[in-house]
Amino acid sequence: MDYEVIVVGAGVGGIYQIKRLVDLGISATVLEGGADLGGTWYWNRYPGARFDSESYTYGYSFSRELLDEWHWKERFSGQPENLRYLNHVAEKFDLRRHMQFNCRVESAHYDQAANLWRLKISDGRTLSARFVVLTIGLLSIPTPPRLQGMEDFKGRSFHTFHWPQEKVEMAGKKVAVIGTGATGIQVIGEIADKVGELTVFQRRPNWSAPLGNGPIGEAEMADIRRRYDEIFTTCARTPGGFEHEPDRRGFYEVSREERVKLWDSLYGKPGFAIWLRNFREIFTNEEANAEFSEYIANRIRQRVKDPKVAEKLIPRDHGFGVQRVPMETNYFEAYNRPNVHLVDISETPIVRVTPKGLRTSERDYEFDIIVYATGFDAISGAYDHIDIQGEGGVKLSERWNDGPATFLGMMVHGFPNLLMPSGPQSGSASTNYPRGIETGVNWCTDLLQYMRSHGLSRADATAEAEARWTEHVVQMYSIMLMRKAKSWFTGYNSNVPGHEHGRVRYMVYNGGAPKYVQRINDVAAKDYEGIRFAA
Ligand code: NAP
Repeated sequence: MDYEVIVVGAGVGGIYQIKRLVDLGISATVLEGGADLGGTWYWNRYPGARFDSESYTYGYSFSRELLDEWHWKERFSGQPENLRYLNHVAEKFDLRRHMQFNCRVESAHYDQAANLWRLKISDGRTLSARFVVLTIGLLSIPTPPRLQGMEDFKGRSFHTFHWPQEKVEMAGKKVAVIGTGATGIQVIGEIADKVGELTVFQRRPNWSAPLGNGPIGEAEMADIRRRYDEIFTTCARTPGGFEHEPDRRGFYEVSREERVKLWDSLYGKPGFAIWLRNFREIFTNEEANAEFSEYIANRIRQRVKDPKVAEKLIPRDHGFGVQRVPMETNYFEAYNRPNVHLVDISETPIVRVTPKGLRTSERDYEFDIIVYATGFDAISGAYDHIDIQGEGGVKLSERWNDGPATFLGMMVHGFPNLLMPSGPQSGSASTNYPRGIETGVNWCTDLLQYMRSHGLSRADATAEAEARWTEHVVQMYSIMLMRKAKSWFTGYNSNVPGHEHGRVRYMVYNGGAPKYVQRINDVAAKDYEGIRFAA
């Protein structure tokens, strides 16, 4: 056996997981496909890439010293600083020496006779370990569109995830952006006044609201440091793992004037306040959601000068907040600029990429740069991209063909000793990610310690426990309006065969962070009820 534990992925999750293992003296390594650590913040270097979480709620909470020494310079910190932070953490705790880069895990097969996982690595090696911990990210498999002629384009083109490391000269250039999700909305707001011409190809608009970024000075940072305990306590008791707590008043218990008063105050507040400090009914009640959506539609109408463009930017197929809400900076104002154009490709679809640009059903466009902000094979995609085989050679990708099924989002029946601290149906995806990550990593690490102290070497979730958890996840979807949305939370992606809209895939845990933590702690307290152990 090469290692007791192999951790796959050196992003936010893998960095914390290796820290926990090293502290316990467990023999472990991290295998990372990229050339360096950072995961999301290593890859996504597109202009405008930044947190939508308040920076100080995104950082790790496990070290007081780290909290005390780091100064978040912006309320919603940008990619370069976020990558610096993760490098700082790795260096501070001397974690780099436990990481191997340019090591993509191609397959992981469970060897039942030896009770070991055998991993094939892209550099030709085979490594074995008793446990594999997958910290491979929720949004780490980018999905460009499937358009004819993409390879013929003579200019530069890239998916936002693969934005080049060197500076991309955009001044005076004709740029196309395809996609208006959280990524597209960040890019468009950032580059509109820096490029020659910007043409946005929008298939479906998204609801979006101001991010409210700003600097954090020394005095404010000192205050945040003083309040860290309180901040993390608040995050732990809110459904989303943020500082934002829902308004506990009933939507219809207060007058329309009261509701509008709340919305007026939230629209100017930073971050997800507009989404998560709102009335809870906007997530569950069609009429309440429609009333609030109309309020936001009017905000868009006020900000976009051309009424025809404004109407195109207002979503019709879903209400506010039933898809992940992208936060924006100058996004709607970008469309008031003479150099920015909106093409509604629900009316005039893109037919193909040409050597010079894009052809829609209406006309040809010429570009120097095409940016694909077209999203990810989210949550289960990274798992599908590794040939993972459990007991009896069962392939995980086949088991999850119709959608994931898990125990607590962290284990899969028939795949012993395979742990996923932020797996599908875990508490991470629908919450402030690092808060969920710390919870998941701690739970998995406690399980390893429990096994050590009880002389156990094999842990497998039972089929019954997996079925019960998955049923609970499905039940949580049934009360949320988001179950109807075409979004990565329901497993929709038009660029991945089989993931087109139509069948809901139950990807995330919607019960909220406190309930999730309670559930997984209950399992641990009952000697890991639902897991079958062997010596
Ligand atoms: P996304 O939300 O899936 O959006 C993809 C966009 O591309 C959609 O507008 C989609 O249109 C469009 N699209 C996809 N395929 C297309 C095609 N073939 N032709 C035309 N348009 C196409 O992806 P994302 O914007 O990358 O965001 C994903 C998630 O990443 C976010 O929800 C968020 O959780 C995370 N993220 C976070 C931050 C942050 O925290 N600051 C920033 C960026 C992203 P349809 O809607 O019609 O499919």
